[in-house]
Amino acid sequence: MDVALILTHRCNLACGYCYAGEHHKTDMSPAVLERAVRLLFSDGAPRAQLSFFGGEPFLAFDTMKRAVALARGQAQALGRELVLQCTCNGSVLTDEHVRFIRDNDMKVTVSIDGVREAHDLNRPCAGGKPSFDQVHRGLRRLLDAGARCDALMVITPETAPYAYASANFLWSEGVETIRANLALGEDWTEARVGLREELVSIGWELLARRMKGEAVSFKPFERGLRSLDPLPAAAGPRRDKVVVGTSGHLYPCAPMVGEDRDDGPEARLRLGHLDDGPEAVARQVRAQGVGCDRGGKCECAAYLETGDRYTAGKMGRWYGRVSYEIGQAVAEALARQPAPPPSPRRRRVMMGLTAIVGAAVGAPLLASFLADDPEAPRPCRLRTRKDVAPYPDDVPIPGEMSAPLDEPEITPDGAMEFGPPEPPPEPMIEGELVFEPEPPPPPEGEVVDGDFGEAL
Ligand code: SF4
Repeated sequence: MDVALILTHRCNLACGYCYAGEHHKTDMSPAVLERAVRLLFSDGAPRAQLSFFGGEPFLAFDTMKRAVALARGQAQALGRELVLQCTCNGSVLTDEHVRFIRDNDMKVTVSIDGVREAHDLNRPCAGGKPSFDQVHRGLRRLLDAGARCDALMVITPETAPYAYASANFLWSEGVETIRANLALGEDWTEARVGLREELVSIGWELLARRMKGEAVSFKPFERGLRSLDPLPAAAGPRRDKVVVGTSGHLYPCAPMVGEDRDDGPEARLRLGHLDDGPEAVARQVRAQGVGCDRGGKCECAAYLETGDRYTAGKMGRWYGRVSYEIGQAVAEALARQPAPPPSPRRRRVMMGLTAIVGAAVGAPLLASFLADDPEAPRPCRLRTRKDVAPYPDDVPIPGEMSAPLDEPEITPDGAMEFGPPEPPPEPMIEGELVFEPEPPPPPEGEVVDGDFGEAL
């Protein structure tokens, strides 16, 4: 079972959209920690991921070190595989933290909203000062040390105009994978059209970078990108996950923990408590846990938008669908890339072969040989299922809105094209959040129902 630990409710930042609620000085106690780590392999899984979340988890670094040591001991004793992951704000990272991350091969996701203008709109330090420089320094430390590091952007209506610049900035810094959540509690009525344009621009940038051979990824597009995979998506083994609050209460996903209050809305989302014992916890997680890592809907996004984990909101569904369409358009553009030229050595061999076998037989052979040339340079390549490790690299991180909330309904005329020069048309999807265009004014002099104008 994958286990995410809320190590502390303390944080040095005061992000406007923080779903951890009010920060209070509550840390996970050693007793809770020990019992939480024991859940990891309690369901017999051959591998399990231990994640750290907060608050800011590096403010509880000693607790984190203890958890890693306990989990490693367990994995070793049982002969199982352990994967480590952490989501942090990057601003308090020291050389010691970075060494620890690297030495333990821990995957890190740094919350950074992109360029300074976007980041500093919503992620100030607790005292009100901007945090961009500190966060950027932490990110650079990780990248320079060669740590496995993703970025997590939260896009709000105010930062939406910077979404493309932010993605481009993060890729240029050396981050390969960008995760991007929307602040779903906000009013997107005005900003939605602009966001779509930004997302299309990110699609263009992704396409250009992949054509140059860069292994960049914008997570919301991934499902659309894989829609053309020649191999069917492997279902993968069922993997359960649970989030443990500092109190020992258990939750399906990190955004649902909130302040972990008995009198808050989070109390009704609980799956139980560590006191229930590992077997009862495993049963409960299996019955009521979230299944987004198995292609299910993203329940934390639904919860953040509608207050009900089972009822998806319109904006989340819109984001899932638009991201899917852009990902699919990028995949189609990549698949249309012309075949790469053969290497000079291959060309010489083929010329000799062609002369011997004769033009009639040689031409089709040549074509198939060139197509299969393993040495030919490939400027870009569609990711196939074979290239995608189903585990652990595709595991959603705690709190990530990773899956589209609905199966996209792509209308024939709604699919986006990346063909220049015209921007893609706005898809009109029935019953969805669509801005109806203004009807054109009637031709001059024409009588319209109820209009007693000049014609009279
Ligand atoms: S860094 Fe994370 S925990 Fe801290 S205030 Fe921001 S969103 Fe909340």
